[in-house]
Amino acid sequence: STFAGLGLNPLLISHLTGKMSIQKPTAIQRAALPVLLSPLPSKASRDVFLQSQTGSGKTLSYLLPIIQDLLPLSSLSYIDRSIGTLAIIIAPTRELAKQISDVLEALLKMRLRAEDESADSADASAPMTRWLVSGLLIGGATRTHEKARLRKGLPILVSTPGRLLDHLQNTSSFNVGKCRWLVLDEADQLMELGFEETIKGIIQGLDGRRRLAQQAMAEGRSTEVGTWDWERRRRTVLC
Ligand code: AMP
Repeated sequence: STFAGLGLNPLLISHLTGKMSIQKPTAIQRAALPVLLSPLPSKASRDVFLQSQTGSGKTLSYLLPIIQDLLPLSSLSYIDRSIGTLAIIIAPTRELAKQISDVLEALLKMRLRAEDESADSADASAPMTRWLVSGLLIGGATRTHEKARLRKGLPILVSTPGRLLDHLQNTSSFNVGKCRWLVLDEADQLMELGFEETIKGIIQGLDGRRRLAQQAMAEGRSTEVGTWDWERRRRTVLC
């Protein structure tokens, strides 16, 4: 079985096999990709559980579908960063959050068009990092600095639970109204470490903020973003 056979975008495949030297999907990737890449029915949400050992390639099994899901954004003529945060990945420890963020950064170095096809425009081969910015929120950095980054817009966030809840409750310009992905990495460890209430708070925070954003949109106070379909739906991935 190949990445192509699982429905992965050719751009992502050539980046994986080229720059990242990853040739064939692992077992968890073969199981997860078709599920996470398939479109959600309108207004539906879906919970997905991925169970496999550390080192089995679990990180890519959710990061690849997230990036493929957000790829249509790259066709917009400009990226309105007020679109806010579209995917949130929560990890129990700073170390794990940092590791996930490193893999994400490596993926986001992908170019939006194969370099040999981009003769007509230098911009067309620009890396995804130009528009798909990721952020790591793990405390340490000052809260003010993190707030400023959130205010500018971080489409993909990797965070530890406490800090994320703090921002959901206290950072007014943190826009999660269009958040389409919530990943709880090492979900069992998150629970063992006593983060259950924090996670519940985060989910409530996401839904509460989403209602506020929808209201703003309905009242014409928020920017319409292209023809990209932002129906109310979310995938929650526990792994
Ligand atoms: P993870 O289980 O996500 O922590 O991944 C463990 C290691 O496997 C990482 O170093 C990945 O770069 C690597 N990896 C992930 N997927 C593949 C794959 N399909 N083929 C080879 N290595 C992989």
